[in-house]
This record gives sequence, structure tokens and C-alpha cells, in this order.
Amino acid sequence: MPGSYDNSNIFARILREEIPCSKVYEDAHVLAFRDIRPLAPAHILVIPRGAYTDVVDFSARASAAEIEAFWRAVAKVAKEEGLSEGGFRAIANTGLNGGQEVPHFHVHLLGGRALGPMLTRAA
Ligand code: 5GP
Repeated sequence: MPGSYDNSNIFARILREEIPCSKVYEDAHVLAFRDIRPLAPAHILVIPRGAYTDVVDFSARASAAEIEAFWRAVAKVAKEEGLSEGGFRAIANTGLNGGQEVPHFHVHLLGGRALGPMLTRAA
């Protein structure tokens, strides 16, 4: 939601270089780095440099240039990490029900092995 962005979230601190990350890609609008607790052989987080809480906020408020740069970077990182050929998963956890822990919009890129079904069926 506009106005509710928390500047102290961990990805904001990574963007300000207050804490380190294992960088795999960056440009004027985007940073990509390895997840600190990888769930697959390749697990990369792609984030915009701008202050957006989630995919809805990003899609509503980001400029066309930011949106274009973001999705081009997602594809570029997937290709450069060797994920495109065998396939991979791109996930944007959003809000409480989505299990989002860090309130700065990000896309997880997961790959390097067969990931199985997306969700297990809830009871
Ligand atoms: P979410 O649940 O918000 O979609 O995912 C947040 C992700 O950020 C998690 O997969 C978690 O492992 C990762 N993460 C949390 N803190 C750090 C950190 O300090 N550095 C890195 N590289 N990843 C982090």
C-alpha cells in the first residue's frame, strides 16, 4: 500500500549496502542476489531498487521503465543462471496469506532441480 513502506526492512538495508549480499545482477532499477536460505540449487531474489511493498504496489506505482527493467532482469538472470532451458519457478509471495516475510517486492527464482507440484493440496 502506498505510504506504508518500511524503510528498515532487510532488502532496503541490502539496497543501501548496510548489509552484504551475494549479488548476481544489478542495473539502475534492479538488484538480484542469492537467497540466504536457499530452497533449491539455484535460489535468487530479484528486487526493484524502488520502495514498493509487493507486486500490487509495484504494478500500481512503478514507472514503465522500472517495470520493463524488472521483468527483463528476471528473464536475464534466469537465462544467465542456466535455468531457462530446464525450467524454473518464479514466485512473488504477497501479503499474509501469501507468506510474504520481507515487505519489499521481490520475485524468487528457483531452479536447478525438478521442483515438483507448486502446492500440496490443503485438507
Ligand atoms: P518472502 O517470504 O518474503 O517471499 O521471502 C523472503 C526471502 O528472503 C526468504 O527466502 C529469506 O530466506 C530471504 N532473506 C531473508 N533475509 C535475508 C538476507 O539477509 N539476505 C538474503 N540474501 N536473503 C534473505
